[in-house]
Amino acid sequence: MISEERKLILTGDKMNIIADLHTHTIASTHAYSTAAEMIKAAADKNFYAIALTDHGKAMPGAPGPYYFESLPIIPKEFLGVRVLKGMEANIIDYDGKLDCDDRLLSSLEWIVASMHTIALFEKPSIEKCTNAYLKMCDNPNVHVLGHSGSEYFEYDYETVIRRCAQTSTLVEINNASFGFRKGSEERCKKIALLCKKHDARIVVDSDAHFLTKVGDVPKALDMLREIEFPSELVVNSSVENLKEYFIEKNIEI
Ligand SMILES: [Zn+2]
Ligand SMILES: [Zn+2]
Repeated sequence: MISEERKLILTGDKMNIIADLHTHTIASTHAYSTAAEMIKAAADKNFYAIALTDHGKAMPGAPGPYYFESLPIIPKEFLGVRVLKGMEANIIDYDGKLDCDDRLLSSLEWIVASMHTIALFEKPSIEKCTNAYLKMCDNPNVHVLGHSGSEYFEYDYETVIRRCAQTSTLVEINNASFGFRKGSEERCKKIALLCKKHDARIVVDSDAHFLTKVGDVPKALDMLREIEFPSELVVNSSVENLKEYFIEKNIEI
């Protein structure tokens, strides 16, 4: 007899991830595992890759530029896992400016750009937020539009997602947001449906701040399965998809 799980695999409904591309280490000071522990956690899950994306300097307690400049000390591959050296940069104004200069950004391999209330004090209008995200999409150093399902930073979803599709900016479905960013579940579903409609590629991430959370994305995957999101639009659903994206963006495989 074929088990339920096996049936799902056979019918192609079973989507999973092979890389976690938004994680934090103790360098962020409000995260609690080392880089080695996070990479080991990814290795334990047989992941192909992990991105270390500690916070940009606008986040209180974030590491300075010397931390990011020195990331090449960590090998490209450790414990069989491809380690991407990156940053979660903060969007710090409504022109989409980031809290990191272009020289440093372009030297890193993986940039998630996100809005955080702590770095953007004034609640924006939908127009302002839309403008910030559109400008961010045009920044060639940015790979991922981070956790944009927050109620606080509402934007014109369709306009921005269409631009993400045009500029190959990945839209993140962030599992951690489902737990604590108000209104995220319903907004993330809306965002994912628009990605499906406009063929915008997405990345499913944990935003782990502790090793047990690496690759832990059950709520995000449940939602994507529910809306029958195509796995070919999820860059980290297969090594093949991810490598294709790396080649496109000149990221070493
Ligand atoms: Zn954090
Ligand atoms: Zn964040």
